[in-house]
Formats: sequence, C-alpha cells, structure tokens
Amino acid sequence: MEQIGHWIDGKRVAGTSGRSADVFNPATGEVQAQVALASKAEMDAAVASAAKAQKAWGATNPQRRARVMMALVGLINRDMDKLAEAISREHGKTFPDAKGDVQRGLEVIEFCIGAPHLLKGEFTDSAGPGIDMYSMRQPLGVVAGITPFNFPAMIPLWKMGPALAAGNAMILKPSERDPSCPMLLAELCQEAGLPDGVLQVINGDKEAVDAILDNDTVQAVGFVGSTPIAQYIYSRATANGKRAQCFGGAKNHMIIMPDADMDLAADALVGAGYGAAGERCMAISVAVPVGEETADRLIEKLVPRIEALKVGPYTAGNDVDFGPVVTAAAKANIERLVETGVAQGAELVVDGRDFKLQGYEDGFFVGAHLFDRVTPDMDIYRTEIFGPVLSTVRAASYEEALGLAMDHEYGNGTAIFTRDGDAARDFASRINIGMVGINVPIPVPLAYHTFGGWKKSGFGDLNQHGPDAFRFYTRTKTVTARWPSGIKDGGEFNFKAME
Ligand code: NAD
Repeated sequence: MEQIGHWIDGKRVAGTSGRSADVFNPATGEVQAQVALASKAEMDAAVASAAKAQKAWGATNPQRRARVMMALVGLINRDMDKLAEAISREHGKTFPDAKGDVQRGLEVIEFCIGAPHLLKGEFTDSAGPGIDMYSMRQPLGVVAGITPFNFPAMIPLWKMGPALAAGNAMILKPSERDPSCPMLLAELCQEAGLPDGVLQVINGDKEAVDAILDNDTVQAVGFVGSTPIAQYIYSRATANGKRAQCFGGAKNHMIIMPDADMDLAADALVGAGYGAAGERCMAISVAVPVGEETADRLIEKLVPRIEALKVGPYTAGNDVDFGPVVTAAAKANIERLVETGVAQGAELVVDGRDFKLQGYEDGFFVGAHLFDRVTPDMDIYRTEIFGPVLSTVRAASYEEALGLAMDHEYGNGTAIFTRDGDAARDFASRINIGMVGINVPIPVPLAYHTFGGWKKSGFGDLNQHGPDAFRFYTRTKTVTARWPSGIKDGGEFNFKAME
C-alpha cells in the first residue's frame, strides 16, 4: 500500500506520529493509500525549519522570486496530465474537470510572476523639509495554508503562489482526503528553484491544524473549507494574534427571470449544479425561477437534461459528466438530506436514489436529483448538501427572488439569467453576495481579480488571489527619513506637524 508522508526541507519524509488516514479511490471504494497525520511535534519542527529558510528567501530580490514562479508555470504545464490524474484518482472528478482544477491554480501562479510590481511600495518626496517618507511591503515570515478536498491543486496554488512570491515561507496543510497532488506540486516548486524548507507540506487532521493555530512563529493562516471549521480556525487564529482569512461553505442561488433564454439557463444550471458532482463551493444548488410559468418552462427543460447526465469513473474518459463523491460519509450525508427533502414535502422530480453503476457497486456514486417546490424552511434549502442535488424554489416576483438570496446565511456566489440590463444591474448592485454572475452560472473571478464570499462564506478582511492576496501575505512598514543639511539646532521637544 502506498504511504504518503510529508514534504519537509525539500524531500518526502515518512510521518513519525504513528497515526494515518485511509485515502480512497472514490470510484471503487477501495483504500489505495495511507496518509500520515502529523503530530504537534512534527508540525512545530517543520515550522522552525521553515522560519530558518525564510530569512534568505525573504531577502531574495522579488524578481528572482518571480522567476521561480515563471519556471513553475512551465513545469505545471509540462505535468498537467500527471497532476490531473492524481486528482481524479483520489477526488473522483472527471479528468477534464481535474485539468480545470490545475489550470485555475496555474493562472494564479502566472499572476504571481508580476509580484515585483505588486510589492512596490509608496514614496513621498519632501514630505517635510529634508524629509522623505516611504512605505514598503515586507513578508510576514512563516504563514500557513489549510485547504479543502474539493480543489486539491487550485486552492493550494492560490495559497502558495502569493505567499511565496511575497517572500514568505509556507506551511501547507492540504486535505487528508486527496494529498497526492499537493505533494507533487511541492516537488515541482523545488524543481523550479524554490529553496528547501520554504514550502513544507504537512499532512494531517485537527491535531496538525491546532498545532499551526497555536504556533507563535506562524504569522498568518489562510483557510478554505466548511463554515464551522472556518469559524473555528478564524477565532482561534485571531485569538492567538495571527492574521486570518477563512473561506467557508455556500448555497448559491441562480435567479431565472421570465425573459431569460430558457435553453441557456437550463444548460447553465445542469453544468453548474451537477459538475464535479456538486462538490464545488461555487456550484449552483438553488434555482429560483421568477413566476409559475417560468418555473414550469424551466423544469420542463431541466428534466431531460438531468436524466441524460452520464455518471461514471474518470477512467471512462470524456464520456462522463460527473464522477463519485469523495467518501462514503459524504454519500451517506447527501442521501440523508435527500430523504429529509422528501419527508418535508419537496417534490423530487428527478429521483437519483436508486442509481447504481454496474461494476462499481462499492464506489461512492450518487445519482442526479432535482427538487421542485422547495421552501426556505426545509433542510435541503438551508444546508449545504455538496452533492448532485439541485433545489428549485419558485418565487412570485424579482423582489422575492432577490430577498431569498439576500436572506440566506451564505453569500459566496450567485447568478441572474435575464435579457434585461436594468434587472441585471439592479441585482449586481443590491445583492449581499461576494461573486455575481450575469448570464454566467459560476462567476469565479480570474486570477488578477479577487475571490471571496460574504456573510458565513468568508471570515476576515481580504480576499484570495489578485492584489488582496499580496496585501494579506505582507505587512506595511512606513519610514520617515530626514537627511538634515546640518545638525546644529539642538533637540526639538514639541510633537511636530509637517510644515
Ligand atoms: P473541511 O472543513 O472538512 O476541511 C477543510 C480543511 O480543514 C482540511 O484541511 C481538514 O483537514 C481541516 N479540518 C477538518 N476538520 C477540522 C477540525 N475539526 N479542526 C481543524 N481542522 C479541520 O472541508 P472539506 O470537506 O475538505 O471541503 C468542502 C467545504 O469547503 C465545503 O463546505 C465547500 O463549500 C468549502 N469550500 C469553500 C471554498 C471557498 O472559497 N469559499 C472553496 C472550496 C471549498
């Protein structure tokens, strides 16, 4: 059985805690590897070693650090298929989708090639007589990234790229469900020229995370995962004086106006609702058609599309729309929530409960489900299901649809489908959600913008990637410098204003 340890000081090392977790092949249900779970002592040693390596890396000029990013771009492109395969094998998503996972992380590394420009400071010439004032952005030191299972390339790269390009050392604690891809990324960083110890990939669970949160050397924690853990990490990290940005779960609504192109909306919903088996924080999980007639037309278009979805293992190639969910526990949770939907009176118009895939009976496959006439009090509406289950909530008016999305506790992404520019503009302006699509179902911002949800989807002040990431992983120092023409007047005892 393959044993996955940690990446410490530039090499793969075995874990010493004596604890490990099973890594499954979700398509077959088999255990295919075991991943070490780090102890507090292992984490503390890795942090101490990272702190030593950071000193020289932080003092390396930004352009040289950017060149490592440039080389990394080439290497990720070279190994795209290998990385995607590692993802599909442990996560279960289709091969093209796994490549998309790598690609959206790669784009952030491309953006990080511009780090020298982003790290430029500010300068005021002659802020006072003989006085100049300048601000510089300096790395924080050792920072941490704690990442979820659903994007094992993209989110580690979102964390690593800006943190490393800004001159920090990073402790990456990836998800224990699919640890192989982050380990491969660490090897590529080394090949790209990153000095040993600057990136440490430490696998683990709560014990490893708590060791990060309680380690005084770690200056900042970037987390992505579910909301309860995001809240926990945010409060413990900030209580310990660290900078923290913690991104959580989602329940993304798509509003379909009566004037929308219904084929376009139905195609968009099927891709955004069922792609990656619904295991995306930007998946659309609630469709809100405005008006009964719109709802009827939408359901009519959706049902045949959903019934035609092909579910299978990634090894079946491009002929699969989505794969299994990540674990047996995830599957059981989705099935339980579907039952609550039925019990609480929602109408299950596409029933995937009996889905079975011949030859893969032990895999974690879940069939596609579509609910109609869901109401806001139901569990399937309030809870993030994170599976191939789309809920339809019928709204009588645009204002009611807008109010539903506004009142939901999550605020990650949302979309409106309409031909009316006025409605779209009003929606984008008033909605209290971080990322908005107009006739775009999954509005994930590109690398040079920033990514972040509102309400219970994000805790902390700054977003991921884009310029915000460089603000998060650096701190500002402002220098007031005086080069007097002659030091002859003696001491000044008043608190001086600039003249
Ligand atoms: P998770 O919260 O279970 O795990 C995320 C990370 O936290 C993992 O590294 C895990 O090891 C660690 N962790 C888990 N339990 C912990 C505990 N009790 N104490 C300390 N650390 C713990 O999330 P997941 O299941 O891996 O990922 C799915 C979730 O992530 C979904 O809710 C999804 O919406 C969310 N997500 C959000 C975004 C975003 O940008 N908002 C992006 C992707 C995923």
